[in-house]
Amino acid sequence: MSPHTEPPMNQYLMSSYKPLQVAFESGQGAWLTDREGDRYLDALSGIAVCGLGHAHPLLQQALADQAGRLLHTSNLYRIPLQEKLAQRLVAIAGMNKVFFCNSGAEANEAAIKIARLYGHIKNTHEPVIIVAEGSFHGRTMATLSASGNAKVQAGFEPLLTGFRHVPYNDPDVIETILSHENGIVAVMLEPIQGEGGINIPDGGYLKSVRELCNAHDVLLILDEIQTGLCRTGKWFAFQHEGIIPDIMTVAKALGNGVPIGACMARGKAADLIQPGSHGSTFGGNPLAARAALTVLDVLEGEELAQQAAAIGQLMLTRFEKDLATVRGVVAVRGCGLMIGIELDRDCGELVARALRQRLLINVTAGRVIRLLPPLIITEKEALLIVDLVGRLIREFLQQE
Ligand code: PLP
Repeated sequence: MSPHTEPPMNQYLMSSYKPLQVAFESGQGAWLTDREGDRYLDALSGIAVCGLGHAHPLLQQALADQAGRLLHTSNLYRIPLQEKLAQRLVAIAGMNKVFFCNSGAEANEAAIKIARLYGHIKNTHEPVIIVAEGSFHGRTMATLSASGNAKVQAGFEPLLTGFRHVPYNDPDVIETILSHENGIVAVMLEPIQGEGGINIPDGGYLKSVRELCNAHDVLLILDEIQTGLCRTGKWFAFQHEGIIPDIMTVAKALGNGVPIGACMARGKAADLIQPGSHGSTFGGNPLAARAALTVLDVLEGEELAQQAAAIGQLMLTRFEKDLATVRGVVAVRGCGLMIGIELDRDCGELVARALRQRLLINVTAGRVIRLLPPLIITEKEALLIVDLVGRLIREFLQQE
């Protein structure tokens, strides 16, 4: 890491983050360049945001063109780009209607509000949503209350009521609750838990939950904020299971860095939001909608779902082989370009060590190395990540 001579200016920022001592000035594809001109290989994509990598030429053109026309009007007027984006998204996802917002947490807030509306029309006065332990749904009061993570809740009590936490990957618990308790209006899950440690449920789990939701007339909400938009090798992770939720949320990769989130719903959940019941000043404005439309064009045109599936599989196979005999590696798991390597001990310091090797990675849940490289990554770059990460892990475990 290059030393910076100027005084730290982040004294004016609230300490919600503790940033590493590096600042990037530009990017190209899977590479970022810092202020000293050093290049870093990006195996994180701004936490699953920049699926198209950095400075994708089509996005660059579209944003420049849109900035020269119109950035924002208001949802008080029709926004044709937003309407077109909604049409594209519902077609891809098999949903009926979309509400646009600006982040993942907001998309989940909308989903939670829709579930509560659904409860009230069924005369359930205190609606409850089943959520999973280990989950992460955001930092607003409702979404942190829904999250199954004591760390994100600490200090913010009283939490919102109306959430019932159950172990992830266990449909029997959900069945028992649905069979014996009143007031459940929805089950809300990540198809793969991202922040929780790349926890991939057993095949058939989501399908069982879908069937239970059907049988008990409760909504299935899937949070695809990290998994969605080709990350796992399909448009959406639930498509691996051949099911479809009633409500789903996306954000992160939808704008490739331009903030936009979406809550989609179908069937009985699609028409519960009515004028006045929810809104957003910026949600789906012309700039964000144009960005997202371009992202969808590129994901489709460059067949990035297939690319994520193929390169992800290659990385996973190599990691499995490379780390098979390394003591201290508990598990290697992944789906498409969402990969986790779990160690038997905390390994947060690997992030700074990787940075010194000019590689961007993340560690989540204390001991899981999380890799979310851009979907446009080449085979050569992917193998370089495998090589560097494998070496970092071996060095880290050997020296302990
Ligand atoms: N849901 C999931 C699964 C996430 O991974 C995240 C962010 O990491 C969120 C929700 C919250 O998204 P945002 O930070 O855009 O509010």
